[in-house]
Amino acid sequence: MLSYRHAFHAGNAGDVLKHSVLGFCLSYLGKKDKPYTYIDTHAGAGGYSLNRGFAAKNREWEAGIARITADETVRACPLFGPYFSVLGRDFPDNDWYPGSPLIAQTLLRGQDEAFCFELHRADFTLLQENLGKDRRFHPRNEDGLGALKGLLPPRSGRGCVFIDPSYEMKTDYEQIPQALAMGIRRFPAGVYIIWFPLLNRREAREFPAVLMELYQGNRCCVTLQTSPVPPSERGMYGSGLAVFNPPWVLKEALEESLPALAAALGGSWRLSWTD
Ligand code: SAM
Repeated sequence: MLSYRHAFHAGNAGDVLKHSVLGFCLSYLGKKDKPYTYIDTHAGAGGYSLNRGFAAKNREWEAGIARITADETVRACPLFGPYFSVLGRDFPDNDWYPGSPLIAQTLLRGQDEAFCFELHRADFTLLQENLGKDRRFHPRNEDGLGALKGLLPPRSGRGCVFIDPSYEMKTDYEQIPQALAMGIRRFPAGVYIIWFPLLNRREAREFPAVLMELYQGNRCCVTLQTSPVPPSERGMYGSGLAVFNPPWVLKEALEESLPALAAALGGSWRLSWTD
């Protein structure tokens, strides 16, 4: 039974990191005319109002996107160009924060296609509404990890797989590496972006190293710590991303942009890059 609703967390520091890297990678894939395929294994509702509904309860976005929209240093950083282009000039006045499927919907071109998976019924209904009629997009109320096998390699031969689970079930820490290992075997040329939380518990502490062992090609691991490590297993103190086959320009973009992002969010960052 899934209880997680991403709306409670929309626009927080984790979203800023994952969505800016996602936007950067999709925009890079879009530089060649050849079509590419986007696969979002854990899509959520697609988009969120920040001042109404769940997002207005804990207002996590105040410590995330709200800290950087007015920060000219951050806005000028190369990592955030595509992300801010998706948020649009009216943001934050328009109050609408796009999740990963809507970021992709803005950045994909006419020749590209996308598969978005969401298991939670209510969020899936919202996802369908938020995507609207778009022949490029295939929203599915199915298990995104299980569906990877049938979709990889994509017909286009180029693609980005975005894996953004909530880690509400401990089994995620086993199932994600298994699905990834299979995905990479079938489609080693793909760009894979995997988000993970920083938590003070064994499986979470070991997880970045587990991910980085799965693939021996170009890869990077980036973490953004936004609060001190808590003494107990409860409480996320930041988050990170593993990226396989990252665009080569991402390294410089991260090195230039993470100091500004960490300063704006009051945190610290780490990047390991393996060519
Ligand atoms: N990627 C979204 C974004 O950036 O806007 C947020 C996704 S949220 C962190 C994770 C979502 O995955 C939840 O909405 C949850 O219901 C859904 N979920 C959990 N397990 C899933 C699975 N096996 N397949 C598809 N969706 C799943």
